[in-house]
Amino acid sequence: MSGLLLVSFHLLLLFKLVAPVTFRHHRYDDLVRTLYKVHNECPYITRVYSIGRSVKGRHLYVLEFSDYPGIHEPLEPEVKYVGNMHGNEVLGRELLLQLAEFLCEEFRNGNQRIVRLVEGTRVHILPSMNPDGYEVAVAQGADSSGYLVGRNNANGVDLNRNFPDLNTYIYYNKHGGPNHHLPLPDNWKSQVEPETQAVIHWIRSFNFVLSANLHGGAVVANYPYDKSLEHRVRGFRRTANSPTPDDKLFQKLAKIYSYAHGWMHQGWNCGDYFPDGITNGASWYSLSKGMQDFNYLHTNCFEITLELSCNKFPRQEELQREWLGNREALIQFLEQVHQGIKGMVLDENHNNLAEAVISVSGINHDITSGDHGDYFRLLLPGTYTVTATAPGFEPETVTVTVGPGEPKLVNFHLKRSMPQATPTRRVPNSGHEGRVLPKKVQPRARKEEMEMKQPQRVPT
Ligand SMILES: [Zn+2]
Repeated sequence: MSGLLLVSFHLLLLFKLVAPVTFRHHRYDDLVRTLYKVHNECPYITRVYSIGRSVKGRHLYVLEFSDYPGIHEPLEPEVKYVGNMHGNEVLGRELLLQLAEFLCEEFRNGNQRIVRLVEGTRVHILPSMNPDGYEVAVAQGADSSGYLVGRNNANGVDLNRNFPDLNTYIYYNKHGGPNHHLPLPDNWKSQVEPETQAVIHWIRSFNFVLSANLHGGAVVANYPYDKSLEHRVRGFRRTANSPTPDDKLFQKLAKIYSYAHGWMHQGWNCGDYFPDGITNGASWYSLSKGMQDFNYLHTNCFEITLELSCNKFPRQEELQREWLGNREALIQFLEQVHQGIKGMVLDENHNNLAEAVISVSGINHDITSGDHGDYFRLLLPGTYTVTATAPGFEPETVTVTVGPGEPKLVNFHLKRSMPQATPTRRVPNSGHEGRVLPKKVQPRARKEEMEMKQPQRVPT
């Protein structure tokens, strides 16, 4: 073999070895190409769809993984990842593209863990919620001194301060009143950016159960609430812990990520210390109108916020190390959607009951059944008293013991109450995708009386 041929042969071998995963920053066109490339490689388990457009008209593309893409299968939970909400925090965007390629490839290789995940879960990946901001940030380049350049959308708005503030409502009513699916304000559409509006429509259209929002600027898993319960602005850097009724569960979800991550759990990162690599959002710094709290208060979805790198725009050479540090955590977190209890809510004629309310005694946060009558209630191991209610039906209460493994199947068969009240909407089995939310009681018009403390540190 001639020398030149030998070199070419070696180059070919090398290319083949490194070709499947390419560690580079993806600009918008490259990102779109990559999503469709994964779809073309795994057409039977993926779907690409857009949830809307950015201010500058770029599509917000989602890549879905499922054994039946585009279809909600009853009792199969929906889970999502959102990256690059802050345009200059780019690691999440790259990790989610890596994850997409990884899921496709491992499924094709017959990796049983990934096959089980894809067959039992519907995974939605939005690599960039702020593609306009990204293009501004990338023009500056990695390690740029402009720490906040590209953070906001093209209208200069921070998307993680742009969701309707439902915390004020729940804190005001903490001794009573609704504890879930808090209504949107009347004029919410005029108050939010196109990207935020697209995400709100998205999370109202699917019955998401679990989610993570990927950021940068620190290394920590942050769980709700992000907005402090304290009404007064304080001079201290750290505000009070502001737990949700699901605090222990959220701590566990955050720890699953931090301990499966290469170094997050060690706690000392980027000059900050977080025990176990996790923090309650408000106890770090309070922020209002964030996406994480909105998910919990308006939908069935439990979302945490992952801060994944000290440097918001890591150099290309660092991407492989970051992927290896996050890969196991990204998979384990998805698997967490399979815990607690799930089941069907049916009437006496086996019709699915949508929007039935599932309450767990001792946890002041209910969840509801989706359009197909199925519900998912994430719970830690333990014994619980669970009640299903629907208008026009007798409540049904069961006691159930949840173990550490797969979720326990708990179905409810509700009997019509006498005298008959307003019946709940019944949905045939062959339902269409997405859920329609009930007409909500409008929130009392209240002046926003508590402008929360601004972060004392550079926001992440
Ligand atoms: Zn951020």
